Amino acid sequence: MTALERLVYTEQVRLIYSQTMTAAVGSPVAGAIFVWIFWAVSDHTVLLIWYACLVALSVARIPVYLVFLRQNQENIEYSRRWGNIYIIGTLLQGSIWGVSELLFIPVEDPIYTVVMAMWIVGMSAASISAYTISMRTLLAFFIPVVLPGTLHLFYLGGQFNTALSLAICVYSIIVIRAFVPVNRSMIEAIRLNYRMEEEIQERKKIEQKLLEISHTDSLTGLSNRRHFDEVLDAEILRAERGENTLSLILLDIDYFKAFNDTYGHFDGDECLQRISGALLYVVNRPGDMVARYGGEEFAVVLPNTDSEGAFGVAESICENIRTLNIPHEGSRIEGTKFVTISAGVATALPGGKSVPGDIIRRADDALYRAKAAGRDRVIMSASKDDTS
Ligand code: GH3
Ligand code: MG
Ligand code: MG
Repeated sequence: MTALERLVYTEQVRLIYSQTMTAAVGSPVAGAIFVWIFWAVSDHTVLLIWYACLVALSVARIPVYLVFLRQNQENIEYSRRWGNIYIIGTLLQGSIWGVSELLFIPVEDPIYTVVMAMWIVGMSAASISAYTISMRTLLAFFIPVVLPGTLHLFYLGGQFNTALSLAICVYSIIVIRAFVPVNRSMIEAIRLNYRMEEEIQERKKIEQKLLEISHTDSLTGLSNRRHFDEVLDAEILRAERGENTLSLILLDIDYFKAFNDTYGHFDGDECLQRISGALLYVVNRPGDMVARYGGEEFAVVLPNTDSEGAFGVAESICENIRTLNIPHEGSRIEGTKFVTISAGVATALPGGKSVPGDIIRRADDALYRAKAAGRDRVIMSASKDDTS
């Protein structure tokens, strides 16, 4: 059984159980009318015992249904068991009706025989509409309802009874033949529904993957410039609404051109990857974002962070990169032959009117000043929006 077939089966079981209340209430009501009709021509005790059995069996289906609702309906083993329990319940209910055809048919008045034949046809027609979804459940009701009465009429003989039993046979063959394609199309509809759901889930996963790819820098695995722009726009709006203090750190590797010239582009790429790892190591609070802003430039977005906090983060980043000890013979920073980074920090205060370009410009100015002041350091932007 494939996964899809299992899903279809569990859905079938769920659907047949949804007919419980109709079976549990409909049968006693129909039974009461039946008793009323046959009261005048049948043994009252037999009629009442028969009716009591019908009511007991019908009502017993309600607690079974309630227990079923509490089961894990996705589990195929449960579904199989509960599907069989429903079929047994249906078979017993159908058999009680079948017994009525054996007990109450032989009456003098042929009008009652006609009523009984109509009853058989009516009950089986009702089961066709209730159990369109499951052939086995339908047959579990249809056969015990139709067969005893039909055989009994045939057995009683005479032109009238034989004709009636033949009419029921013809009717049964026609409705079952008509039922088969409807039953198949319903099952196919469930199957299609599940396939469609599977496809939608698959597409959602692909969309999510594509979104991730479109947001990721392929060399470093960090967020790319596009994602950075989106996140910064959103955070600026939040800051404007007064919801948060937003800080931005722009970072640029010192003398990276010389690094490439000394060690080659391949090592340069590896250096970028190691520095990305160091950035992620320091910046790990949920909501923070590390992005590759350009070639050897990075951006860190820090929502809910004031300038002091952002300065601390930038300092930690610089320190962390120093401790990576990546050799850099071409560095012109006095006293070090290792890779270093410079950082510019800007902060937007809640409620202030700023555009994304504004905070980037201020962080970039601060970065420029860090470079001018000798590199390997952090400089705060000194704009009116900043707390420093
Ligand atoms: P400064 O300290 O002033 O920032 O000097 P710099 O040499 O780092 O700055 P510059 O802008 O002159 O050079 C940046 C270099 O970064 C140029 C390029 O060779 C290198 N670069 C940019 N993107 C990549 C990349 O994806 N891989 C490698 N290996 N190098 C890159
Ligand atoms: Mg640069
Ligand atoms: Mg540089």
